[in-house]
Amino acid sequence: MPELKKSHYEVAIMGSGPAGLTAAIYTGRANLEPVVFEGMQPGGQLTITTDVENYPGFPDGVMGPEFIEQTRAQAARFGAEIHPYAMVSKVEHDVRPLRVHLDDGTTFTTDTLIVASGASARLLGLKNESELMGYGVSTCATCDGFFFSGKEIAVIGGGDSAMEEATFLTKFATKVTVVHRREELRASKIMQDRAFKNSKVEFLYNSEVEDVLGTKEGGVTALKIKNRETGEVNELPVSGVFVAIGHVPNTQVLDGVLDMDENGYIVTRGKGSHTNVPGIFAVGDVQDHVYRQAITAAGSGCMGAIDAERYLETLHD
Ligand code: NAP
Repeated sequence: MPELKKSHYEVAIMGSGPAGLTAAIYTGRANLEPVVFEGMQPGGQLTITTDVENYPGFPDGVMGPEFIEQTRAQAARFGAEIHPYAMVSKVEHDVRPLRVHLDDGTTFTTDTLIVASGASARLLGLKNESELMGYGVSTCATCDGFFFSGKEIAVIGGGDSAMEEATFLTKFATKVTVVHRREELRASKIMQDRAFKNSKVEFLYNSEVEDVLGTKEGGVTALKIKNRETGEVNELPVSGVFVAIGHVPNTQVLDGVLDMDENGYIVTRGKGSHTNVPGIFAVGDVQDHVYRQAITAAGSGCMGAIDAERYLETLHD
């Protein structure tokens, strides 16, 4: 149960990935004493990856969880009040200041709310899929493709993400097998064609992944795949598997509060982080299904902090 230091804040932040923590660093340095609710997965998606090699400033790479720990410490240094595992359950957006409810019943008021609750990769739900996440199983080709140079791998899914990831991964892998549960792909024609034209991409249709075989020590060795038409079960030897069956933005508690697109991503206005509700800003993956990188989320968190600061100035005019 989070013990809040105050009953009113100038800045409250929902989410603790690179977007939320960067917003906390910036608003903390502006002496706004932000409060951060970390959510059920403190640190967000980076805490389920291993090496991060594409974040500028780390020539030897950095482990995802360590990166988050350092960023959190940086936010705390500038006065951010951080509550692990605390979840926002309701936002009253038609009162000023905004009233926020936490899932344990605590309520407080805030002048601004920066929503940085991210998106979660949809998973197949297999036990080993979670166990081997970061050890051969990944949900981000841009992040982890490099580790599979010269290897054979699989991509699960039949949408644009799966096509994009499969095509991208052929830069590293010698063979990429797209495993899709139906006969037809969901992906747009142009993305399908790009994958079809690539001689390193193969397709397994009507195929359901029953298990990911491997160990943390040895990595992934194969997928157990069932043909949905014949019922036959075979093993596909691969060293890596990219699950690309979509993402789900963590916006459920803001249903009816903020404008969202048809997939539940928050719609922001113009180049900034403004939502349809004055005083509420959205940053990072919760409003971006295109780039989805730690660095773009951090940049977006900085924008949200600056937008919130400017909004607060208008309140004091
Ligand atoms: P998506 O379009 O929802 O496709 C998800 C795919 O995963 C579908 O083929 C689906 O199979 C499969 N799937 C879902 N749940 C599954 C499960 N439990 N087991 C096995 N397979 C499962 O998601 P997305 O590809 O991430 O794309 C999301 C949005 O972003 C789309 O609007 C897309 O156009 C857009 N996007 C665009 C680009 C681009 O233009 N460059 C790139 C990426 C994404 P079924 O087909 O059988 O349902």
